[in-house]
Amino acid sequence: MATTVYLDNSATTPLSPAAREAMIGAMDAFGNPSSLHARGAEAAKMLRQARATVGEALGERFLKDGQLIFTSCGTEASALALLGTAHAKARRTANTILTTDSEHPSVEKNLCQLEKEGFTVVRVATRGGVLDMDAVRQHCTRDLFMVTMMLVNNETGARYPVEEVFALARAAAPDCVCHCDAVQGFLKLPMRVRTVGADLLTVSAHKIHGPKGVGALYVSERMLKERRLVAFLQGGGQEHGLRSGTENMIGIAGFAAAAAEGARNVCAAMAHMQGLADRLIAGLAGSEIRVNRPPCAAAHIVSITLPHIKSETMLHHLSAAGICVSAGSACSSHASGPSSVLLAFGLTPSEADTTLRISFSAENTAQEVDTLLDALHEGVRTLVRIKR
Ligand code: PLP
Repeated sequence: MATTVYLDNSATTPLSPAAREAMIGAMDAFGNPSSLHARGAEAAKMLRQARATVGEALGERFLKDGQLIFTSCGTEASALALLGTAHAKARRTANTILTTDSEHPSVEKNLCQLEKEGFTVVRVATRGGVLDMDAVRQHCTRDLFMVTMMLVNNETGARYPVEEVFALARAAAPDCVCHCDAVQGFLKLPMRVRTVGADLLTVSAHKIHGPKGVGALYVSERMLKERRLVAFLQGGGQEHGLRSGTENMIGIAGFAAAAAEGARNVCAAMAHMQGLADRLIAGLAGSEIRVNRPPCAAAHIVSITLPHIKSETMLHHLSAAGICVSAGSACSSHASGPSSVLLAFGLTPSEADTTLRISFSAENTAQEVDTLLDALHEGVRTLVRIKR
């Protein structure tokens, strides 16, 4: 197989050797962590250690029981956060949910459901990747029930000021629940869950060189004490009763190994990816390709708009050269019509249709960026253009 230049790390990342090794080890330690015999105790110990490791990667050294719930993916963790809070008996009377107009579908679709159930959802604009803070201030009232905001946007790389928003929300409505979808920020930039100020925070293993099919929800002590979260998967009461079902021990072992490694290297990785992004942006300067760079952006995601060339056409051209990138986000490839995130950024539908996302990991090299630049410039010279 020809060498692949993999630049689609926001869709998923390759499994790290450490994660792979931990998963192979976990295949033999087959016990059920809920069993009371020796095999169960062995698995329970592994589960405890994995929970502590992921907690530490989130900046929390001493998690209490129930503060880190393993789930089947980031999508499930956010669904638990949003629906589990909205449906809790301890729910207060406030009714407004504050969010952005560019959340991932795993948040947005649950918000649509909550709207049907009677909540008022306010989606603040993120034009140019900049959150409208005046609108945030205007909507931070006593009626705030919840704020849900992503740390880093998966299509544009915009880094939203969640810390500031959560602080404003709490000042206006002390009971308000603050949820952060940190799937694209976790271990891509230094982040501590306490500093973010989240009551609930979603992460996913496969974006940090862990396996697919495992995620986690961080839960603050306050949420647990006040019983403000209820499970939607009922059963054996695993994961502190918040997510029944026997834990995916192999996936969790891989998640913990990837998180430990990622936490050790986060600053160096970020600096390296920033170098790659700068190189890419410099290499596009003066060309017909426009970079959609928010003023505050994570290092690993670069969105570009092509001159009248459909993103799919360029994607296939790059793919033929062994280069993997994506058009918008991988999950939006199932959706019809232009990406709502790119429209929220301020692109026209036809610009959104000609936009690609390049996303790095610490494993990528300057040479790979140069290969991409050569292929992009060649594509711009040779590929068929559409009418705007
Ligand atoms: N949130 C964001 C911002 C994402 O980018 C993704 C995946 O692309 C998810 C949530 C969903 O994570 P998972 O694939 O683990 O369900």
